[in-house]
Amino acid sequence: MDIVSATENSHLESTNTATVTVTAASSTSPAPSRYESQKRRDWNTFGQYLRNHRPPLTLARCSGAHVLEFLRYLDQFGKTKVHTQMCPFFGHPNPPHPCPCPLRQAWGSLDALIGRLRAAFEENGGKQEANPFAARVVRLYLREVRDLQAKARGISYEKKKRKRPPQALPMASQVQVTNDPPAL
Ligand SMILES: [Zn+2]
Repeated sequence: MDIVSATENSHLESTNTATVTVTAASSTSPAPSRYESQKRRDWNTFGQYLRNHRPPLTLARCSGAHVLEFLRYLDQFGKTKVHTQMCPFFGHPNPPHPCPCPLRQAWGSLDALIGRLRAAFEENGGKQEANPFAARVVRLYLREVRDLQAKARGISYEKKKRKRPPQALPMASQVQVTNDPPAL
Protein backbone atom coordinates (compact mmCIF):
# COMPACT_ATOMS: atom_id res chain seq x y z
CA MET A 1 0.00 0.00 0.00
CA ASP A 2 1.13 3.53 -0.69
CA ILE A 3 0.85 4.81 2.83
CA VAL A 4 3.56 6.75 4.61
CA SER A 5 3.94 8.29 8.02
CA ALA A 6 2.16 6.11 10.52
CA THR A 7 2.76 8.79 13.14
CA GLU A 8 0.90 11.53 11.30
CA ASN A 9 -1.92 9.21 10.40
CA SER A 10 -1.97 7.13 13.53
CA HIS A 11 -5.75 7.24 13.63
CA LEU A 12 -8.75 9.28 12.65
CA GLU A 13 -8.60 11.57 15.64
CA SER A 14 -5.15 12.84 14.77
CA THR A 15 -6.62 15.64 12.65
CA ASN A 16 -7.98 17.75 15.50
CA THR A 17 -5.54 20.59 14.90
CA ALA A 18 -6.54 20.92 11.27
CA THR A 19 -10.22 20.88 12.23
CA VAL A 20 -9.78 23.98 14.38
CA THR A 21 -8.38 25.91 11.42
CA VAL A 22 -11.20 24.97 9.11
CA THR A 23 -13.86 25.73 11.73
CA ALA A 24 -12.44 29.21 12.31
CA ALA A 25 -12.43 29.91 8.59
CA SER A 26 -16.14 29.26 8.07
CA SER A 27 -18.04 31.92 9.95
CA THR A 28 -21.47 30.89 8.71
CA SER A 29 -22.05 28.25 11.39
CA PRO A 30 -20.77 29.38 14.78
CA ALA A 31 -21.70 26.13 16.53
CA PRO A 32 -21.33 23.28 14.08
CA SER A 33 -23.36 20.19 14.80
CA ARG A 34 -21.74 16.90 15.69
CA TYR A 35 -22.35 15.75 12.14
CA GLU A 36 -20.80 18.89 10.68
CA SER A 37 -17.67 18.69 12.82
CA GLN A 38 -17.34 15.00 12.09
CA LYS A 39 -17.66 15.76 8.40
CA ARG A 40 -14.91 18.37 8.58
CA ARG A 41 -12.68 16.00 10.50
CA ASP A 42 -13.26 13.25 7.91
CA TRP A 43 -12.56 15.66 5.09
CA ASN A 44 -9.29 16.71 6.72
CA THR A 45 -8.33 13.08 7.28
CA PHE A 46 -8.92 12.36 3.61
CA GLY A 47 -6.95 15.46 2.59
CA GLN A 48 -4.08 14.29 4.76
CA TYR A 49 -4.32 10.86 3.16
CA LEU A 50 -4.04 12.46 -0.28
CA ARG A 51 -1.06 14.56 0.78
CA ASN A 52 0.75 11.46 2.09
CA HIS A 53 -0.13 9.40 -0.96
CA ARG A 54 2.73 8.02 -3.06
CA PRO A 55 2.67 8.59 -5.97
CA PRO A 56 1.16 12.07 -5.35
CA LEU A 57 -2.59 12.24 -5.72
CA THR A 58 -4.79 15.31 -6.08
CA LEU A 59 -8.47 15.46 -5.31
CA ALA A 60 -9.26 16.13 -8.97
CA ARG A 61 -7.56 12.91 -10.00
CA CYS A 62 -9.09 10.86 -7.20
CA SER A 63 -11.23 7.95 -8.37
CA GLY A 64 -13.49 5.42 -6.72
CA ALA A 65 -10.56 3.01 -6.68
CA HIS A 66 -8.59 5.49 -4.54
CA VAL A 67 -11.55 5.77 -2.18
CA LEU A 68 -11.50 1.99 -1.77
CA GLU A 69 -7.79 2.15 -1.07
CA PHE A 70 -8.54 4.73 1.65
CA LEU A 71 -11.26 2.56 3.20
CA ARG A 72 -8.94 -0.47 3.29
CA TYR A 73 -6.24 1.68 4.84
CA LEU A 74 -8.66 2.67 7.62
CA ASP A 75 -9.28 -1.00 8.47
CA GLN A 76 -6.01 -1.16 10.40
CA PHE A 77 -7.62 1.17 12.98
CA GLY A 78 -10.83 -0.86 13.11
CA LYS A 79 -12.34 -2.15 16.37
CA THR A 80 -14.83 -4.62 14.96
CA LYS A 81 -14.00 -8.31 15.03
CA VAL A 82 -14.83 -9.91 11.70
CA HIS A 83 -14.59 -13.71 11.86
CA THR A 84 -13.11 -15.66 8.99
CA GLN A 85 -14.97 -18.67 7.65
CA MET A 86 -12.39 -20.90 9.36
CA CYS A 87 -13.20 -19.47 12.81
CA PRO A 88 -15.51 -21.55 15.04
CA PHE A 89 -17.27 -18.28 15.96
CA PHE A 90 -18.10 -17.39 12.37
CA GLY A 91 -21.71 -16.21 12.48
CA HIS A 92 -21.79 -15.85 16.30
CA PRO A 93 -22.85 -12.38 17.49
CA ASN A 94 -21.39 -12.98 20.99
CA PRO A 95 -18.48 -15.44 20.93
CA PRO A 96 -17.59 -16.82 24.40
CA HIS A 97 -13.80 -16.71 23.81
CA PRO A 98 -11.31 -14.46 22.03
CA CYS A 99 -10.12 -15.56 18.60
CA PRO A 100 -7.34 -14.35 16.29
CA CYS A 101 -9.67 -13.00 13.59
CA PRO A 102 -8.84 -9.49 12.27
CA LEU A 103 -10.34 -6.24 13.50
CA ARG A 104 -11.95 -4.07 10.83
CA GLN A 105 -13.91 -0.85 10.50
CA ALA A 106 -17.56 -1.69 11.07
CA TRP A 107 -19.68 -1.46 7.95
CA GLY A 108 -21.92 1.16 9.60
CA SER A 109 -18.88 3.35 10.27
CA LEU A 110 -17.65 3.15 6.69
CA ASP A 111 -21.10 3.73 5.28
CA ALA A 112 -21.62 6.86 7.39
CA LEU A 113 -18.08 8.05 6.63
CA ILE A 114 -18.65 7.76 2.87
CA GLY A 115 -21.92 9.68 3.24
CA ARG A 116 -20.12 12.54 4.98
CA LEU A 117 -17.23 12.59 2.50
CA ARG A 118 -19.64 12.52 -0.44
CA ALA A 119 -21.34 15.62 0.94
CA ALA A 120 -18.05 17.30 1.83
CA PHE A 121 -16.68 16.76 -1.69
CA GLU A 122 -19.51 18.74 -3.23
CA GLU A 123 -19.48 21.39 -0.50
CA ASN A 124 -15.81 21.93 -1.29
CA GLY A 125 -16.43 22.67 -4.94
CA GLY A 126 -16.36 19.16 -6.37
CA LYS A 127 -18.71 18.37 -9.24
CA GLN A 128 -21.50 15.95 -8.47
CA GLU A 129 -20.81 13.83 -11.56
CA ALA A 130 -17.14 13.58 -10.63
CA ASN A 131 -17.71 12.63 -6.99
CA PRO A 132 -15.41 9.65 -6.29
CA PHE A 133 -17.31 8.86 -3.07
CA ALA A 134 -20.47 8.33 -5.09
CA ALA A 135 -18.74 5.96 -7.52
CA ARG A 136 -20.46 2.69 -8.29
CA VAL A 137 -17.43 0.71 -7.20
CA VAL A 138 -17.65 2.33 -3.73
CA ARG A 139 -21.35 1.45 -3.40
CA LEU A 140 -20.62 -2.13 -4.40
CA TYR A 141 -17.73 -2.38 -1.98
CA LEU A 142 -19.86 -1.12 0.91
CA ARG A 143 -22.58 -3.62 0.07
CA GLU A 144 -19.98 -6.38 0.00
CA VAL A 145 -18.57 -5.33 3.39
CA ARG A 146 -22.07 -5.20 4.85
CA ASP A 147 -22.96 -8.70 3.65
CA LEU A 148 -19.63 -10.13 4.72
CA GLN A 149 -19.80 -8.60 8.20
CA ALA A 150 -23.44 -9.57 8.62
CA LYS A 151 -22.53 -13.22 7.94
CA ALA A 152 -19.28 -13.22 9.89
CA ARG A 153 -20.78 -11.56 12.96
CA GLY A 154 -24.21 -13.14 12.82
CA ILE A 155 -25.87 -9.72 12.60
CA SER A 156 -28.45 -8.55 10.11
CA TYR A 157 -28.07 -4.98 8.93
CA GLU A 158 -30.96 -5.26 6.51
CA LYS A 159 -33.79 -4.59 8.97
CA LYS A 160 -32.03 -1.69 10.63
CA LYS A 161 -31.31 -0.16 7.26
CA ARG A 162 -34.93 -0.20 6.17
CA LYS A 163 -36.02 1.61 9.32
CA ARG A 164 -33.65 4.55 9.16
CA PRO A 165 -30.80 6.07 7.15
CA PRO A 166 -27.27 4.73 7.82
CA GLN A 167 -26.19 7.94 9.56
CA ALA A 168 -28.70 7.29 12.32
CA LEU A 169 -27.34 3.85 13.20
CA PRO A 170 -25.75 3.75 16.65
CA MET A 171 -22.56 2.29 15.23
CA ALA A 172 -22.14 5.19 12.84
CA SER A 173 -19.90 6.96 15.34
CA GLN A 174 -17.49 4.05 15.72
CA VAL A 175 -14.99 5.50 13.29
CA GLN A 176 -13.94 8.13 15.77
CA VAL A 177 -14.10 5.99 18.92
CA THR A 178 -10.61 4.99 19.94
CA ASN A 179 -10.90 3.66 23.49
CA ASP A 180 -13.61 1.10 22.88
CA PRO A 181 -12.96 -2.35 24.23
CA PRO A 182 -12.43 -4.68 21.30
CA ALA A 183 -15.60 -6.41 20.25
CA LEU A 184 -14.53 -9.93 21.21
ZN1 LIG B 1 -13.07 -15.37 14.99
